[in-house]
Amino acid sequence: MASASPIAPSPTSARRLIDSHGRVIHDLRVSITDRCNYKCVYCRTGELGAQYPELGIEEYLRLIKLFVNLGIEKVRITGGEPLLRRGLIELIEQLAQLRTLAGEPLDLALTTNGHLLDNLAAPLKAAGLNRVTVSMDAVDAPTFERITRVPGSFKNVLAGIRAARAAGLAPVKINCVLLRGFNDNQIEGFAHFAREEDVVVRFIEFMPLEEGRLWTPEIVVPLAEIVARIGRAMPLVPLPPREPSETARRYTFPDGVGEIGIIAPVSQAFCGACSRVRLTSDGKIRTCLFSQVEHDLYGRMRAGEDETALSNYIVQTIYGKEARHHIGEPEFLKPSRSMVHIGG
Ligand code: SAM
Repeated sequence: MASASPIAPSPTSARRLIDSHGRVIHDLRVSITDRCNYKCVYCRTGELGAQYPELGIEEYLRLIKLFVNLGIEKVRITGGEPLLRRGLIELIEQLAQLRTLAGEPLDLALTTNGHLLDNLAAPLKAAGLNRVTVSMDAVDAPTFERITRVPGSFKNVLAGIRAARAAGLAPVKINCVLLRGFNDNQIEGFAHFAREEDVVVRFIEFMPLEEGRLWTPEIVVPLAEIVARIGRAMPLVPLPPREPSETARRYTFPDGVGEIGIIAPVSQAFCGACSRVRLTSDGKIRTCLFSQVEHDLYGRMRAGEDETALSNYIVQTIYGKEARHHIGEPEFLKPSRSMVHIGG
């Protein structure tokens, strides 16, 4: 006998965003541009520039407020490269004024390549940003710059990381995407880097979200291999998850100095605990990184729909969030947008 499907929430009474699989969505990622000043070899084909229109800062703010009034508690600003976006500081200032349904300030984070962070870390902190994640795929300058394809980028990013720490954007997290044959020789170096720079290093398995066609199962460096390799160099001590929807498996070292996290969406998918939804730079809702459909929230706003209608649309859209991704399965279809154009 087929099991009864859950009843869709009544939009106007909804106080939280819940999908048809019972997951509560409280984490919103917002891309504010799909422009980027890096051309990372595993992400871009080499062309710079935006493919999708950007909204005005006030328009992002209006859309984000709708989500916050429906139970979003964490907002992460991303891109493209969000530090390229004029009006970023004002956006953070405004977001810092918002309150969750429980009356708390939002957990406000930003993901950046760090190239412009040296000068912006202190103003971002003063505007109300809580945390920053810096993407960094190698700890030696030549490998780093072979990946970003921007000469001189390593020293900028290192300065950015140090400025973020000095500004109190703690804990500074470093995201490293590992690709076999590109930068998997950096694993042990990153363990030392985490300890020396007092940052949390998180290795992320490479997902099929690149502009070109690089992804194969073999190029992914899986969680188990990363743990084994660091463990051979230095013993690792597992840390407990801080919340059920935590995506990273966390480890420290016997002396408690330094933290390593591994995010394994490919080898150990965590879709069952997903609490995320994304808004693209052109105002489309994506309920999953691998969604085949997008939901044009901004189009409805431009057409004059009021806050109630827009909120109802968000509730219904999130109710239909996909159960899981299908990476590595025969029916897997690559989404039409790549990571840089979705918002990582
Ligand atoms: N420009 C910002 C940055 O560099 O952090 C934000 C956007 S970037 C697309 C966000 C993150 O996505 C980066 O850490 C990047 O390494 C990661 N990323 C890009 N393509 C990826 C892929 N195919 N699989 C896993 N992570 C990816």
